[in-house]
Amino acid sequence: MKYSEKIRKKLKEKNISVLDKVKIKKENKTYRGILMPNTEMSSPKCITIKLKNGYNIGLEDLGDLKIQKLKKEEKKENKLKIKQDKSKPKISVISTGGTISSKIEYETGAVEPALKAEEIIAHTPEITDYAYIRNYEQISQLTSEDISPSTWLELAKTVKKELNNGSRGVVITHGTDTMHYTAAALSFMLTDLTKPVVLTGAQRSIDRGSTDAPMNLLCASIVAAESDIGEVGIVMHGTMNDDYCYFIRGTKAKKMHTSRRDTFRPINDKPIAKIKPNGQIKKIQNHSKFQDKKTDTEIGFEEKVAILKAYPGSEPDALSYYEDKDYKGYIIEGTGLGHVPTQAKKTWIPKIKEITDKGKPVIGTSQCTYGRVNPNVYKNLRKFYHEAGAIPAGDMTVETAYVKLGWLLATEKNEKKIMEKMKENLKGEITERSLPETYLY
Ligand code: GLU
Repeated sequence: MKYSEKIRKKLKEKNISVLDKVKIKKENKTYRGILMPNTEMSSPKCITIKLKNGYNIGLEDLGDLKIQKLKKEEKKENKLKIKQDKSKPKISVISTGGTISSKIEYETGAVEPALKAEEIIAHTPEITDYAYIRNYEQISQLTSEDISPSTWLELAKTVKKELNNGSRGVVITHGTDTMHYTAAALSFMLTDLTKPVVLTGAQRSIDRGSTDAPMNLLCASIVAAESDIGEVGIVMHGTMNDDYCYFIRGTKAKKMHTSRRDTFRPINDKPIAKIKPNGQIKKIQNHSKFQDKKTDTEIGFEEKVAILKAYPGSEPDALSYYEDKDYKGYIIEGTGLGHVPTQAKKTWIPKIKEITDKGKPVIGTSQCTYGRVNPNVYKNLRKFYHEAGAIPAGDMTVETAYVKLGWLLATEKNEKKIMEKMKENLKGEITERSLPETYLY
């Protein structure tokens, strides 16, 4: 719906268009904000502006409303606009996109990545109480459903460069949807890592009053600058309030809720630490320790790895589809302890055997999320793991198993070793014992 004829005339006279910054005077009050398009929900007689705090207000024009266009803000220089203390520990910030880089696109009301790395940092000047940002880089501007393994490779290279060039930690801002895949990928690709590499993001964009971005970014920077952790992990809200964040190991984290701020939880694991925005870091469990050593990488990813889900009624034909495309490995999200169908026409067993006989890895995980795959308890499990030659993924998440297999297929040429390493714990992805307190942590 358009603004009323009268309002449109007024705007035209003053050469004001939608999205211009305006000052409005009404009943002795002055309002400043961005002129918004009129929507179906608002009266055509009301002028809607977005205030600096992110809220929209509608001001009815009874002929008394005065509107004026404000001058455009100077274009920001490509330089950090915050004062920094060079004596603080040096960190780097790398941005990739996601909600933490996003703002509302006023025409549609949709949120999309638009902020540069330095703009994200500028929203959280408190970082400078703990860290000196030695360098910041933007390697993509993508929401994370569009991030592919090629971004993981670039990130691993950039992190290595930053850590070997003077930063004692790195913060990576990222969309939350696939942040745990990236965290797992970096965990495996950064083979010699003794410094903190911290992924963080947001569930609400920075231009909303309810944003979680600044606290997540601050806590992530505290870990990068001050912690004695030498691992890859995710730092996001630990609760729905702004009280603390968790640092969760990169191979054990999972996004568990579509919209809650405390969406990331450790799976079959405890968080490594709790971080308060006042700088306090409280350890919850053991971790690799910080050392000022050179970082090294083994970079590569085989993208022809498929994740397939077994469910009532599922057909093994799905495997044939990928085999025809010459896929190199499979992650099967089985039921319960890690089952696939074994009866009559629906059985997956012969097809799996055919694949493993070619020397290709087929990995069994569980759709239960929590717990461990067991290859022995039931006769049907024995068919899948012993007869058909699938490899049990222990208590790895499906996402981590996928990333680990894709990485091993690209970096380890010996087939037998790939199978062995899938069962070994390389980067905290498989725990030795299932601790009861890790369930629904
Ligand atoms: N789907 C987007 C992404 O993962 C937005 C979600 C977010 O960043 O929290 O990047």
